[in-house]
Amino acid sequence: MTLTDRIDAKRDDLIALTQALIRIPTLNPPGRHYHDICALLDARLKAHGFETEMIRAFGTPGDSATYPRWNLVARRSGKRPGDCVHFNSHHDVVEVGHGWTRDPFGAAVEGDKIYGRGACDMKGGLASSIIAAEAFIEEFPEFQGAIEISATADEESGGYGGVAYLAEKGYFSPQRVQHVIIPEPLNKDRICLGHRGGWWAEIETKGEIAHGCMPFLGDCAVRHMGAVLDRFETDLYPAMANRFTEMPVVPEGARNSTMNINSIHGGQAEQTADYDGLPAHCVPDSCRIVIDRRFLVEENVDDVRGEIVALLEGLKASRDRFDYEMRELNVVLPSMTDRTAPVVETVHAAIEAILGVAPTYVASPGSYDQKHIDRIGKLRNCIAYGPGELELAHKPDEWIGITDMLDSAKVMGHALETLLLPA
Ligand SMILES: [Zn+2]
Repeated sequence: MTLTDRIDAKRDDLIALTQALIRIPTLNPPGRHYHDICALLDARLKAHGFETEMIRAFGTPGDSATYPRWNLVARRSGKRPGDCVHFNSHHDVVEVGHGWTRDPFGAAVEGDKIYGRGACDMKGGLASSIIAAEAFIEEFPEFQGAIEISATADEESGGYGGVAYLAEKGYFSPQRVQHVIIPEPLNKDRICLGHRGGWWAEIETKGEIAHGCMPFLGDCAVRHMGAVLDRFETDLYPAMANRFTEMPVVPEGARNSTMNINSIHGGQAEQTADYDGLPAHCVPDSCRIVIDRRFLVEENVDDVRGEIVALLEGLKASRDRFDYEMRELNVVLPSMTDRTAPVVETVHAAIEAILGVAPTYVASPGSYDQKHIDRIGKLRNCIAYGPGELELAHKPDEWIGITDMLDSAKVMGHALETLLLPA
């Protein structure tokens, strides 16, 4: 039997495993059933000769007695020393949302598709990597090195109770792991090299409260924020539109620096539903915005921050009574694996061998757990590669293709042959 035949023979097993994973509603937030899904994988991988560890990320954001942040790491060592190939999948899924025509946790099979929340992002990828590893071990019991499979928490909310926690504990150190494949739904013929960075901040402009009929006795924080937004339009957005990255980010629009203004609020709070009176007449003394600035691998986070600070300081110098406070909310640095990295070249060759096409290189406009493997784990030999169409992630009637899962499992298996069999 060849490895690809062996994977084809596991079609029913692959479908059943994907269904079992989808049927555990690991909704995040708040982080439901993490223990259940880790226990299922723990039992399965133990039965296939893996050593397993269930690891709770105590004290990380969201971790509580009600919603503990559980992770599973499984390792199967070969007969001789060699490299370790690690497949990392997140087990959490986002909320269901509206518009479903199937049970989001029913995992119905229709033709070549399995439907459900998390089918494509990314329980289908997780199941594919497990089938690939199990088939490889059966076909080549004499392999060298090690295979690791992890199912981790909280990717959808930043990964701090998942990969970041494990990386801090040394699970992604270059001494332990040499190659990482994250089976996110990037399509079976694409290799994702990394992602852009993100910088989130809240900016508040200050004013002075006064009666609305005599605004000249106060100072309007909303007008000051108007001046900030005006400078964004005239200075910042045009500057960002001129910056392009060499990274193959998809979609095309995300090859620029971008910035979203998430929210704006100034003055009195919005009236609650149980009050239908008129607002009071006040000059607002505070106005706040939250910004989401995505930056390129060619940009430096200090420059990203400094550009905004310079704009605000400029207003402080030129605009009467302008005052502000800025609070940084979060930073994610960009990550980009080199095209000549061993895992990239290996999966490239595997896609050509299995699918008969040259892969496309992409990078993600947002971020995913690669950031923690890169920054905390210090491991640069990491890609995202897995079945599923990225556009289906987080959508109603999300599905994963069975053929796509089998094909990408074959690519993963081929990559294991290259990396873990003696030359
Ligand atoms: Zn995902």
